[in-house]
Amino acid sequence: MIVVKFGGTSVGDAAAIARTAAIVRGRLDRKPVVVVSALAGTTNQLIEIATHAAGGQLIVALTILEELRARHFAVVDELLAGDRAHAEVATETGALFDELAHLAEALSVLGHATPRSQDAVAAMGERLSAPIVAAALARAGIPARWVDARRVMATSDEFGRAEPKADEIALACRAELAPLLREGVVPVLGGYIGGTASGITTTLGRGGSDFSASLFGAAMDAEAIEIWTDVDGMLTADPRVVPDARLIEHIRFDEAAELASFGAKVLHPSTIAPAVKRGIPVFVFNSRRPEGAGTRITFDAPRLAVRAIAGRPRTVVVKVRSPRMLARPGALRAIFAVFEANRTSVDVVATSEVSVSVTLDDDQHLDAVVAQLSALGDVTVERGRGIVALVGAGLGESTATMARALGALGDLRLHMVSLSATGINLTLIVDDDSVHEAMRRLHRAFFAAEAA
Ligand code: ASP
Ligand code: MG
Repeated sequence: MIVVKFGGTSVGDAAAIARTAAIVRGRLDRKPVVVVSALAGTTNQLIEIATHAAGGQLIVALTILEELRARHFAVVDELLAGDRAHAEVATETGALFDELAHLAEALSVLGHATPRSQDAVAAMGERLSAPIVAAALARAGIPARWVDARRVMATSDEFGRAEPKADEIALACRAELAPLLREGVVPVLGGYIGGTASGITTTLGRGGSDFSASLFGAAMDAEAIEIWTDVDGMLTADPRVVPDARLIEHIRFDEAAELASFGAKVLHPSTIAPAVKRGIPVFVFNSRRPEGAGTRITFDAPRLAVRAIAGRPRTVVVKVRSPRMLARPGALRAIFAVFEANRTSVDVVATSEVSVSVTLDDDQHLDAVVAQLSALGDVTVERGRGIVALVGAGLGESTATMARALGALGDLRLHMVSLSATGINLTLIVDDDSVHEAMRRLHRAFFAAEAA
């Protein structure tokens, strides 16, 4: 079997659903299980509803709710008008909105939202979308049937970021999904949501639908997991910065994980880890251009020195110099304890015998950090820096690549260099205003020549 997951933009209107139906139809012989997100933007609006209701602004909450209700009914009408499932889905949709309104009122009476009640609200998006999509697929001639994901996605009760229970999910898949697949039925489930042993609704955390797809796929030992979204796949660089960025057809999981930390937010690799670890390939495809090659993510793609170029502006560099102290055992621990005590996470680190340089993305507690570090050595703070990284599994083995990377920077100033322990990420700290230029130069050095 395979898992096919569709994001909120792949199911929101008749044209999108027609494409989605065509994609599922083309895979019927591979026994697809369909996982869907909420309609685009819905989860954010639901969270706003919970926040406003609990904050005493029930009217605002209900206004957002009415907007959402109107939008969902418009989609139900557009996708199902004239269909025999229309009345039933409309009734279900109405009932879910009534439940949501009651929840909002209850939150406003209580004056606060617990993580549990927040999940009850946030889960509405997928509780709404999955039955609608199932009916729309059925109308398009696909033997689709909605299955309540909360019965299959067994989780802990850590609301807001519930922990999936792999063994129980596998059992539930066998009980609830496998029989449908044997009959040729296509189960359609909402992503992101789950249920505890006592049946309380939970969510897996934001972006959780990809995680759901991966967990169902791992539980059922899928031959592949396909994430259908609205971009072509992962690219060799951010196309807004590097216009001639190219599609990456095959990438290693660890490379994708490095890129994700730079905000390549096509999908978050941690969400597909359960599948990739079991050797199940994950594909990212564009539902608007289903003929595209997409990106395949596996544990081992052929080693390349440079798979992609990433960048992240606005970084602060903190340098501590202390010839005496740094020679002593425990000196680094003392320095990092300061960051820890101030809840500041350190990103890139470079050290020498007499100095330590670190980068921070978050300078909220910088004053306290600097004050405390000053007890350990001379501290300098360099604002206006940015990070550029080359990511490739074969990077660490290729001195020539590193030389070429530094050469490609030309006259751009380099403030710090770090090669990750895994050798797959060469990080360069440059001036903030040259991050984009550095990305373009590096991309040209490693990709333009190949293309020519
Ligand atoms: N609807 C959820 C969210 O927006 C899950 C998802 O779309 O992946 O976070
Ligand atoms: Mg998503």
